[in-house]
Amino acid sequence: MWAAGACCSRQAGEGGAGGATARTPVKTFQAYLPPAHRTYSCIHCRAHLASHDELISKSFQGSQGRAYLFNSVVNVGCGPAEERVLLTGLHAVADIYCECCKTMLGWKYEHAFESSQKYKEGKFIIELAHMVKENGWD
Ligand SMILES: [Zn+2]
Repeated sequence: MWAAGACCSRQAGEGGAGGATARTPVKTFQAYLPPAHRTYSCIHCRAHLASHDELISKSFQGSQGRAYLFNSVVNVGCGPAEERVLLTGLHAVADIYCECCKTMLGWKYEHAFESSQKYKEGKFIIELAHMVKENGWD
């Protein structure tokens, strides 16, 4: 028996191998993007993060320098949303992190209050410092 810590209420799995059920909740490692695509990966653990096709803009600024705006990402977890005043006004944003190595990568725009910023809603910012390009593209 071990007491679960208060800070991390993660379920410690679903017990042992329970027969031949088709449904397996175990996440082996990560989602993979189609290999033909140019992809961005986590610089720390090489999990795929986003396809180049999903890149919207390279002209964003993160806390550690340049950051890219993506339409969709994979292998990324999301923290609780909170309101923050950014350079472009008030937004509700949520921190996002790599699901494989738990490194904070950037944030997600949950809601933009300025109409000119609405296009960012539901989109993801990943800081360049946490990404590496895969497939040898330039
Ligand atoms: Zn990672």
